[in-house]
Amino acid sequence: MEPSVQSFWFSTPAEQGLIPCVDSVGDALRFAADLGSDDLVVLDLASGHFIDCNRSAHERLGYSREHFLTLNPAAIQADAELADDLMHDQLRVMRQQPRGSFATRHRARCGACRDVSVSYQVLDLCGRLVALVSHRDRTELDTALRESSRLGSLLQEAERLTHVGSWELNHRTGELLWSNETYSIFNTAPELTAPSYGHFLQTVHPEDRSLVDATFQESFRTGRPYRIEHRLLLGDGLLKMVLERGRTTLGADGEPLTTVGTVQDISEQHEIQQRLERIAFVDPLTRLPNKAAAVRQLARLLRMAGSERGIALINLDLDNFQSINNSLGHEIGNQVLQASGSCLRHLMRPDDWLARVGSDEFILLRPMAMADRLEALQWAEQIRRTLGNSPGMGTGLAVQPSASLGVALAPDHGSDPDTLLRCANTALMEAKQHGKNQLRFYTPEISLQLRERLELELSLGRAIDREQLRLFYQPQIDRGGSRIAGAEALLRWRDQNGRMVSPNVFIPLAEKTGQIHTIGLWVIEEACRQLQEWHRQGLRLGKLAINISPLQLGAEHPSLSELLAGALSAYDLVPENLELEITETALLNDPERAGEQLRQLAESGFSLAIDDFGTGYSSLAMLHSLPLDKLKIDRFFVERLGNDDADLAIVKATIVMAKELGLMTLAEGVETAEQLGMLRNLGCDQFQGHLLGKPMPARDFGALLGRAAAA
Ligand code: C2E
Ligand code: MG
Ligand code: MG
Repeated sequence: MEPSVQSFWFSTPAEQGLIPCVDSVGDALRFAADLGSDDLVVLDLASGHFIDCNRSAHERLGYSREHFLTLNPAAIQADAELADDLMHDQLRVMRQQPRGSFATRHRARCGACRDVSVSYQVLDLCGRLVALVSHRDRTELDTALRESSRLGSLLQEAERLTHVGSWELNHRTGELLWSNETYSIFNTAPELTAPSYGHFLQTVHPEDRSLVDATFQESFRTGRPYRIEHRLLLGDGLLKMVLERGRTTLGADGEPLTTVGTVQDISEQHEIQQRLERIAFVDPLTRLPNKAAAVRQLARLLRMAGSERGIALINLDLDNFQSINNSLGHEIGNQVLQASGSCLRHLMRPDDWLARVGSDEFILLRPMAMADRLEALQWAEQIRRTLGNSPGMGTGLAVQPSASLGVALAPDHGSDPDTLLRCANTALMEAKQHGKNQLRFYTPEISLQLRERLELELSLGRAIDREQLRLFYQPQIDRGGSRIAGAEALLRWRDQNGRMVSPNVFIPLAEKTGQIHTIGLWVIEEACRQLQEWHRQGLRLGKLAINISPLQLGAEHPSLSELLAGALSAYDLVPENLELEITETALLNDPERAGEQLRQLAESGFSLAIDDFGTGYSSLAMLHSLPLDKLKIDRFFVERLGNDDADLAIVKATIVMAKELGLMTLAEGVETAEQLGMLRNLGCDQFQGHLLGKPMPARDFGALLGRAAAA
């Protein structure tokens, strides 16, 4: 190896241990050979041996410089069998073409093969032909290229499988590139369509177009990522649902450079989602939206309305639905609900919204230009009036059942779904308190009353356990005015705060909550216990009257007869000791069933009295068919006896007719001697009232009985 060649080409400062001196740029360039990443080799074309190389040429193949310079091209050929032939071919080509390139494979000292690009330039070095050869290792590049083409097809496959296409928009040139899948989502092909933003917009469903355009333009302007679901309306009316996402890169000047996005065909998911929505948000019976949908819709409307616009909300509950269901069966019950739904639907304006939110409960929503109480009330009133007067289509009922309605208004009563729904429901409960076919507009006072009622209800539930209930006894006097013919047991409740709560308040409440059954049973047992105690004391009483609620009369397991029989036998009494007071209205609800119950009780030996007669519009003819013993004329008539001739006439006629029917009459609420005198003259048999004795505790009444017996 000639030192001159070596030093000319590849001597390095490190190898020489010196900082080399250079005289010209050309000299300086010599050092570039060691800095580059290509392998450089000087090959003697006559002998075929390497005569010089740079560091990377020997290091890449794992040889020391000295070892490498003992080799020739055949020694580093990957294919050992062809190595010599290949080398001779290469040398021949080099001699014929002083400059060129070809590809080959090298084997490193460790045995690993590398793909190499070879470029060469033949030089005349002082009369000696040498080739300056560059070996460029292509292994990584080839792998990367192979990998990238593999990734490319993988990506295409992934796009096809997931129905996600990708695209890139160059804002400077307007050029839009679509991936294969994007073409296929837009139902076209590269040879059929030259994509552009304008073309894309044309494929968007006309109803979604302006929103889509606005979303894209906003992203182009701000660079903010976007996500939007919209419909595509493609050729032949093909409808697709797509999800678009993307991001825009802005230049330093704030102008958009490129937008890269994906478009995903979610038609299938959309279809599934719609089906799920139908399951989750639609009431299968009426096909109306359900409660979850109503809450969602209300939230949506409230968001849109803000604080300026109004929303009227009606909570509607069908009257008597439970009894229709119970008496006519669920099939008819379902038909009633469906008919109610379609009746309500017919009353709706295009912007109104209707849902079935409970078994017989509906919600109606109406967006309004501004919260208008009058408009809301008129709307509700129209619904109330129409419902009860519409034919009960296909239900076997002559008319659609009436409804009770509660109305609330946003933003006046609340601006979130929860509050508004609660307000409308509170108004509905208030409407129901006042009977059927009623309409109430929400007011904060209603809430307060309702809360008080709730508190009352809760403490009433504990009244028996806390021994807060007592029975008072009011005497019933016979015509002569001296004999105690009987007594009425009247319930008293002193609550935990020591307040006396009137039975006129808590009995209707207990009837509503069902607590009346427990309370009623307590009354029966307590009355029987007390009567037995008086009997033991030798005190006799004609009959003890007990007030019976219509609900007790209708109870089945256990029935009223069973409860009474149990109490009588526990306290050694007989049915003849008791009189049962049933209000007139109790008989009106279900006269046939009540009649049956009463006949059973009468056969057992109980006396039966009609309480508050005259308040329920029952006819005496109807009472005739019932096994009654006594008719209690309501205090309302007794009070007016002195000042109203018409009332006098009514009382007179009642007493006459009652006598004809073989009924005894008792006048309630006798407060004055004048009233007593008039009633006596009219032929009334018994009297009860403050004049003759107020309701009193058992001990006082016992004492009264004792005195009467002694007299
Ligand atoms: P009612 O059965 O008609 O009872 C008569 C009511 O008139 C009692 O009111 C009694 O205190 C009142 N009264 C009697 N004489 C006079 C009078 O001269 N002047 C005036 N102003 N009032 C008089 P009370 O005790 O407040 O009971 C009210 C209603 O509560 C009863 O009317 C009855 O319907 C119901 N009630 C009372 N106790 C019971 C019970 O144990 N069970 C059931 N289901 N209802 C009961
Ligand atoms: Mg009574
Ligand atoms: Mg009464």
